[in-house]
Amino acid sequence: MSAIVTPAVILRTQPIRESDLIVVLLTPGHGKIDCIARGARRSRRRFPGGLPVGARGQVDVGRGRGSLAVLSSFAPSSDHGRLGRDLDVFAYVAYLCELSDQLVGGSASDPTAFAWLCEAIEAALAPTPAEAKPGLLRRYELGLLESLGLLPALAECSVCGSPGHATEEGVAFSAARGGILCLAHARMARRIPAAVLGLASALLEPDPEDRARAYAEADRETRRDLRDLCRELIAPHLRGELRSLAFFAQIAARPKPPAPE
Ligand SMILES: [Zn+2]
Repeated sequence: MSAIVTPAVILRTQPIRESDLIVVLLTPGHGKIDCIARGARRSRRRFPGGLPVGARGQVDVGRGRGSLAVLSSFAPSSDHGRLGRDLDVFAYVAYLCELSDQLVGGSASDPTAFAWLCEAIEAALAPTPAEAKPGLLRRYELGLLESLGLLPALAECSVCGSPGHATEEGVAFSAARGGILCLAHARMARRIPAAVLGLASALLEPDPEDRARAYAEADRETRRDLRDLCRELIAPHLRGELRSLAFFAQIAARPKPPAPE
C-alpha cells in the first residue's frame, strides 16, 4: 500500500510495546486498515486529541515494514468529547465499532458501510432521547448487514419474489433460506410477526423522521423481537464474542440516579 490520505473511523486500538498503539481503521475506499501509531501512548504531539475508538477524521497512512501500515497523523473531523464524558454514548459507539470490526472483512472498498457507520456514530453522539437510541443500533445492524449483502429478504419471498405468506402468527421466515417466504416456499418455516418485519424495513428508510416515528410507535415486544432477530442474523458472521454487549449489560444494571421532582 502506498501512502494515502483518507477519511477514517477508529474501530479498535491495542497497546503494543512501550509507547505504540495498534489502530484498526475503517475507510470508505480501502476497507479496514491495520496500522501502528508510533509513540501515540507517550506523546500527544502527533495525535493531539488522542485516538479514541469511534473518532472520525482524516488520516495519513503510509507503508510500514511488515503487514502493518503506519499512521502518521489523525485530524478529527468532529468533536468527540462526549465519547469520554458520557458512559451511555461511549457504550453505543463501542458497540457500533466492535460490530463493524467483526463483520467487515478486509480491504475491499465499501463506501456504503463507511457511511452507515459515520451516520450511526453521529446519531449516537447527538442528544437523542434514551428510549430512541436502541432504534439507532437496529438501523445500523440492518444497514451494515445490507451493505455486506448479508441481510435476508424482508419484503418478498426470498426464493421467488412473491408476497410473503402471512397468517395470524406472522410471516413465514427462514434465515437459512434467505428471508421471508411465500405460501409455496413456506413449508416448515417459522413465523415472525409482521410488525417486526415492518419495523425492520422502516428503519432502513432514508428519512430520519420516518424512522424515528416508526420506532417510537412500535410496542416493547416488537422492539425486543427485532433486537433478537438482529442478534440472530449477526451471530453466524461474528469472529468472536462481542465484548461491548457485556459492557452494555453492566451500565444498564447500574443504580439509577433518583428521578428529578
Ligand atoms: Zn416463493
